[in-house]
Order: sequence, then C-alpha cells, then structure tokens
Amino acid sequence: SKFVVGLTGGIGSGKTTVANLFAEEGICLVDADVVAREVVAPGSHGLNAIIRHFGTEMLTASGELDRAKLRQRVFNDEQERQWLNQLLHPMIRQEMLLQVEKATSDYVIMVVPLLFENGLDRLVHRTLVVDISPELQVSRTVKRDNVDATQVNNIINSQCSRSEKLARADDIIDNHGEISRLKREVHALHQRYLQLSGNHNA
Ligand code: ATP
Repeated sequence: SKFVVGLTGGIGSGKTTVANLFAEEGICLVDADVVAREVVAPGSHGLNAIIRHFGTEMLTASGELDRAKLRQRVFNDEQERQWLNQLLHPMIRQEMLLQVEKATSDYVIMVVPLLFENGLDRLVHRTLVVDISPELQVSRTVKRDNVDATQVNNIINSQCSRSEKLARADDIIDNHGEISRLKREVHALHQRYLQLSGNHNA
C-alpha cells in the first residue's frame, strides 16, 4: 500500500497553501473536502440515499445537493445527523483510499481538515499539522472570506485545540512566516517523506 501523510490544521491555518506546495514537488493530493462533494454528486449513491431519506426538498433547482439546507436539517437533530454521518463517512473513507491507491507519486498527501476529530488519522502513516496562532487564524480567515472574527472564533473553538493537534502531530509545519519560508519547510519535509516512503515500500 502507498505511504500516506495526513495533512491537517485549523481553519485558515494554511492547509491548502501547504498542499499546493507539495503538489509543486510532484506529489498527488487527496482532498477530503473534494471527496465529500464527490460522494453526493448528482447521480451518486450518496445523493440518492439522502433524497430517499429527506426528500427532494434537499435538492437545488439544478438538481444538486443543497448543502446549506441539509446542514440546517440535521443541525438540531442528533439522530438524523448520526444517520447522515453513518451514510457518508464510510463512503468518504472508501473513496479517499481508492484515490490513494490510484495515485502515481511516491507518497500521497491526504488533506483532512478534521483529521483527528473524525478519527481519520487511523488511515494515514504519518500526520503533518500546519500550525499558526489563533490570532493569525482569525486575521487570515477574515481577510480571505470577508467574515467576522466572532464567526471564525466559534469555528476555532469547535475544532480540536491547537495544543492537542500539536501533541498528536508526527510533524509540524510552522506557518507564521512568509510563503518563501513555507516553501523551504515543505521542500525539507518532502525529502524526508520520500525517504520514509522508500522504506515503507521496501
Ligand atoms: P480552511 O481550512 O479554512 O479552508 P486552510 O487551512 O486551507 O483554510 P489556506 O486557505 O491555505 O488555509 O490559508 C488561509 C489564508 O491565509 C489564505 O488566504 C492564504 O492565502 C493565506 N496564507 C496562508 N499562508 C500564508 C502565509 N504564510 N503568509 C500569508 N498568508 C498566508
């Protein structure tokens, strides 16, 4: 099986930025957010099951899943939320592993925002946490999404804490500095992962 590095970090920490730098090194990415959309694409088993269960009011006019509506529907309903997670989580997991096996690079970066929260660290050989302070998480996310700081703070507080992420990380990438520094950090990690994947496949 392929050597997999799970890349995680809180909201606005720089996961996408770091993942793209690994892609520049020639490494294939598997992105949990992308897969989560694929398993509910029009015509998918996932979307069909959701429609059978919640009705066609969960569809937009163009026949896609109305994610906001579904989120609202399960928000205050623990049982329905569980039903949905039990449907989607195994599908997402299976599709991510399928994409890992199809990947052509020496190792794969799996980008998973809630890697520890959802227990997906069990699927990877090594974890890499992008670390920044909560203050920087807020300022970069506010700037990127044009949302208010309270909203970002609420999301930060709903995620696994910075100290817990750091304690569970095999590797940590510091993203307080400039992109040029990040690039050098990624390059060094890439060399290390090539070595580890070589041992893994030997
Ligand atoms: P989310 O989980 O919210 O999707 P993310 O972890 O993928 O976020 P990014 O989108 O990569 O984070 O980064 C958040 C914002 O901060 C982006 O606008 C990005 O361009 C910017 N950013 C990332 N790293 C740096 C850096 N070192 N210096 C300045 N800006 C940065």
